[in-house]
Amino acid sequence: MTPELSKSMQMVAPGMQRERPIVLHVDDDIASLMMAEGALEDAGFDVIQAADGQEAIERFKEHEPDLIIMDAVMPVMDGFEAISTIRELSIGAHVPILMITGLDDLDSITRAYDIGATDFLTKPINFFILPHRVQYMLRSKLTADALRSSQSKLDNAQRIARLGNWDWCLCTNELSWSREFGRILGVEEGAGIATWAEFINCIEEPDRTNVRLLSEQSVEEKLPFNVEFSVVSRFDDSVRRIRLEAEPHAQESGEWAYMLGTIQDITERTNAQKQIHNLAYYDLVTGLPNRAQLTEQLRYTLKSSKRNDTKFAVLFLDLDHFKQVNDTLGHDAGDDLLLQVANRLTSVVRESDMISSNDNDPESQHTVARLGGDEFVVLLGVINRVEDAARVAERIAQSISVPYDIGSSTVTVTTTIGISVYPADGDDTESMMKSADVAMYHAKESGRNGYQFYSRDIHEQALSRFSLEADLRSAIENKELTLAFQPKVEMSTGRLAGVEALTRWTHPERGLMNPGEFIPLAEETGLIIELGRWVLRESCKQMQLWIEAGWPPMTIAVNCSSVQFTKSDVIEDINEAIQYSGLDPRLLEIELTESLLLQDGEKGIQILSDMKALGIQTSIDDFGTGFSSLSYLKRLPVDKLKIDQSFVKDLDKDSGDAAIVTAIITLSHNLNLTVVAEGVETQEQFDILRGFKCNEAQGYLISYPLDIEQFSLWLDSYREQILQKVSGL
Ligand code: C2E
Ligand code: CA
Ligand code: CA
Repeated sequence: MTPELSKSMQMVAPGMQRERPIVLHVDDDIASLMMAEGALEDAGFDVIQAADGQEAIERFKEHEPDLIIMDAVMPVMDGFEAISTIRELSIGAHVPILMITGLDDLDSITRAYDIGATDFLTKPINFFILPHRVQYMLRSKLTADALRSSQSKLDNAQRIARLGNWDWCLCTNELSWSREFGRILGVEEGAGIATWAEFINCIEEPDRTNVRLLSEQSVEEKLPFNVEFSVVSRFDDSVRRIRLEAEPHAQESGEWAYMLGTIQDITERTNAQKQIHNLAYYDLVTGLPNRAQLTEQLRYTLKSSKRNDTKFAVLFLDLDHFKQVNDTLGHDAGDDLLLQVANRLTSVVRESDMISSNDNDPESQHTVARLGGDEFVVLLGVINRVEDAARVAERIAQSISVPYDIGSSTVTVTTTIGISVYPADGDDTESMMKSADVAMYHAKESGRNGYQFYSRDIHEQALSRFSLEADLRSAIENKELTLAFQPKVEMSTGRLAGVEALTRWTHPERGLMNPGEFIPLAEETGLIIELGRWVLRESCKQMQLWIEAGWPPMTIAVNCSSVQFTKSDVIEDINEAIQYSGLDPRLLEIELTESLLLQDGEKGIQILSDMKALGIQTSIDDFGTGFSSLSYLKRLPVDKLKIDQSFVKDLDKDSGDAAIVTAIITLSHNLNLTVVAEGVETQEQFDILRGFKCNEAQGYLISYPLDIEQFSLWLDSYREQILQKVSGL
């Protein structure tokens, strides 16, 4: 080696070539070394030499040559062992190595490649060709270096961006992916995810189905798609939020062959967004929605109330004397109190959820919010009646006034509540809030710890219905209700066919009230269940008493509300009434309205069958006002139909109702049902119905509903009439 040569042996960064690349030539054959040196130096290379493997390794470490020409068979250490050792060095992993083997020595060639040789040449070496071979090897080394460096840059970029890429072969379904893809999902290279289906299986439900469907659709329509989903990382079981982008690609032939795409871990970004959202929309002290969130919810509620024509209420609350707690016990105590108040509010509102007609509808949801300071707002998303808001306000006032444990002290606060009701008190979010606020100030003026509606009328209406409700409750408890009885007659013979029990209420101040005034209230408040139970027992008992007094047995019909069926075990109540009275069950008839059967057909059939099993009779009340399909009617185990009064009313006039009535009667007879006409007031109506072969009639023509004494008298005179009729025949 010449001294000039060593000068040019400067170190070079990987991927760049020295001006004169250095070739390390290892051979124990001096002649060979010399011949090669001449050829290579002429071709622009610097050459260093070694006589065996051992020396080659030292030379390599010392000079980091750009390429090695390595003889296979040498003393001390052969070429194979030297290559293995060099490949293990970090600087030797990628250096091109040209192995020189004996001619026809196939075994050596194979072995050379196995241990990491880049190429081979057989002896005798053609020294004219050698520099060219070296040249080309160096050139491809540069390409490989550039590729490796770009790969590593890409890998780093993907790692920094938490972005992995993949490609999915649509023919084989195989999936290949970048290193970052594996890191995001928490899978090792070569483990687990080799197909698209296996990838889909990593995704948590319900996202999984969604991604599957989207990808199938995208393949089908050859359109790009993107989607977000969650996976549980297999590295640390953390839940990661992932965004996937995908694009179909065609082969040169035009056939759709690949789906290419990326996945990006957006967990941190999503969490940050959530946090920002929480800060913007929730109150830090109580965790309740803040004013911004409330306004949004209010806007939403307003829209849906307009659309569905429903009512909602805003309750504006202010704690009385909160400032004193803050001043005497400090701000931490104040915060603690606010938190406890918030919790009580939330639980009162949750318990009051039943006031909302459709709890599952997000639009009808109730919201408890803190505006700041000691001001809270409860938004009742849907209310059926203004009293609902009053009831919640009363519960809130009651719940807030229970003493609080704050540290070692016990504190009592009360609240004043103003209520605005949509649509009466405002048409937009601002006026609804303002009305509630104004109402709250009125409430404060008229003494703390109370509630006040914005509008006087509504306030009075709520109070009056509230008190009526309380009255009805006590009327049921104190047995202020009575029964009226209205007979039904058989049209062909005039014989008494049965009697219907109708409830009456004599209110201490309002006087005699008809069911129309209190049954709907009883239904809305659930009091109907208690009321219905009482009617069943009393009706059965009264009929049994009459029978025991010697009257001929006749059926007693009792009305049942659909609320009794949906919210209580009416079969149990009927059974109980029969046992209690000792009445023959065949004499009890239950009247149900068509609407119950229309609400839930299958349930209706079930209930009617259960009634049949008890041995009682059933009839459909107010028939013709609903829209029962005839085929459905056929499946119903009922005994009777009662034609609604509205069809009977104008029968004697030229109204067209006659057609409906004859149709109902014909239909009923075909189905083997008894038909009863209700509300028969005139002889003319009676005669027409009899002409239509209607079976029974009920109405003022025969008798008004009567109390027990009146009915006993009526029965007496009726028997007289019948006896006269019978004897007169
Ligand atoms: P409904 O079952 O259709 O009862 C017949 C209604 O028509 C009764 O009114 C009766 O007084 C009235 N009426 C009878 N004949 C005539 C007539 O010729 N002309 C006219 N215009 N009306 C007649 P009432 O007693 O006011 O009851 C009204 C409704 O209240 C009943 O209608 C029934 O649906 C309900 N109701 C009454 N008592 C009870 C009860 O104990 N439980 C339940 N769930 N509902 C009841
Ligand atoms: Ca009835
Ligand atoms: Ca009726």
